[in-house]
Amino acid sequence: MHRRSLVTFTLGAALAVAPVASAEQLGKLGGALKRANQLRDIQMNDAEEAQLGAEVSQRIRARYGVVQNQAVHRYVTLVGTALAQVSSRPGIAWKFIVLDTDAVNAFAAPGGFVHITKGALANLKTESELAGVLGHEIIHVSEKHTIRAIQKGKAVQMGADETVAGNSALLGKLADKAYEIVDSGFGRGDELESDEKGIVLANTVGYAPTGMNGFLNMLMERNKATAATSKNGLFASHPETKERVDKMTKQIASAKLSSTATVGERYTSTISFKPVPVTEVATVESGSAGAAGGSAKPAEEPKKKGIGGLAASLRPGGGEKKSAQVTGSGAARGAGAESAAKGGSNPALVAVSVNAADIAAFKKAGGLK
Ligand SMILES: [Zn+2]
Repeated sequence: MHRRSLVTFTLGAALAVAPVASAEQLGKLGGALKRANQLRDIQMNDAEEAQLGAEVSQRIRARYGVVQNQAVHRYVTLVGTALAQVSSRPGIAWKFIVLDTDAVNAFAAPGGFVHITKGALANLKTESELAGVLGHEIIHVSEKHTIRAIQKGKAVQMGADETVAGNSALLGKLADKAYEIVDSGFGRGDELESDEKGIVLANTVGYAPTGMNGFLNMLMERNKATAATSKNGLFASHPETKERVDKMTKQIASAKLSSTATVGERYTSTISFKPVPVTEVATVESGSAGAAGGSAKPAEEPKKKGIGGLAASLRPGGGEKKSAQVTGSGAARGAGAESAAKGGSNPALVAVSVNAADIAAFKKAGGLK
């Protein structure tokens, strides 16, 4: 889910405020860049990756705002943490963040920052579907897809003269590029890897491995409504989503992924967001927020984002300007209206702390493994 997003989280103090970059970390990052000269040569340790991810998450949260609801964040964090614990990187500081927009989307940023929108939660029907989406995003992080994309040259090269600009500037510039990658979707190979490994995570925890397919099917259905319009028609008729569903269906059979928990009741009793049809999602472009849900609220002006360098990638259709390397196959990415959706105004993280006992109790109550 990554808007096309997927469609791309020490747990310990999970949603606590992101660590502030130490001068030492920044120094290491800057040093690596300086030595490399070109981003394709960049190497990052976990601390540096976390710092980059924090910057990217900040941009995503500034764009969409954060749902200021502790119970919702705790729930998503419990599901996400259970999955992350069986990933290849259980020890990094996973954070699960619910974005305040009616668009259906999810974004994975480096270092363990997994974002899912209120609109996505509203359209999911079971916890196993949520696990499917989160599992997919977790793999984007655990397999370092953003870092890999940067190394492949999807970011602009930084010349030697730019590396002297200062470490903070370097980090910001790198975060801008990482944000663009996260926002526009990963390559086909990365999406397929996230699909394949994500459903294994879900199955390992005990969730029915069909959750991700449920989500993708929902997206295809959701976007049928807009098939006649230029903006969403491309996505609606896109064969890639169907192909992904077919691949996962075959994998579930051949690999005998046989877990069965869907945990629907706990999901619907915890998540009460109402879905907004894609044709009614308020967009930054139109500024007519009143269309959403038939609300009588006065239309709001599109917000200025105030985060330099990102405006281009946030414009409607921005995600379509992909290079051949970045053929987004993420689920939600294709829908123009969703990529241009308006967000809330509060980017503050909602602090959640879950420990091992909490997760064990959560899994037991849900009939998970
Ligand atoms: Zn994805």
